[in-house]
Amino acid sequence: MSECVRCGACCHSYRVEFSVYELDSMGGTVPEALTETVNGATCRMRGTGEVPIRCVALEGQLGELALCRIYEQRPRPCAELQEGSYGCNKARVRHGLPPIGEWLGA
Ligand code: SF4
Ligand code: SF4
Repeated sequence: MSECVRCGACCHSYRVEFSVYELDSMGGTVPEALTETVNGATCRMRGTGEVPIRCVALEGQLGELALCRIYEQRPRPCAELQEGSYGCNKARVRHGLPPIGEWLGA
């Protein structure tokens, strides 16, 4: 089973910014209501530009239960982040969770 369902570390770690063309209002999938404007070309998941970071689309508790409410509509940076990748493990380690697989990062 994927570790993602009881993790959510990436959703608490990164500014999730992407092209406005991914917004549902622009023909994409991401609900615009859950985003904020960065500039004319870029928007961001709300909550990921703040400290502490927590995406508004996330339900659950870090390290225990994580559910992306817009999983099928999530933006490209989320869809491209592979479980066990450097970015994944960097987020997990930052939040005190064990890395997945071999972790050579700092
Ligand atoms: S940090 Fe990795 S394991 Fe955790 S939810 Fe993100 S992709 Fe999944
Ligand atoms: S859109 Fe979903 S996968 Fe992406 S940061 Fe938010 S909760 Fe996490």
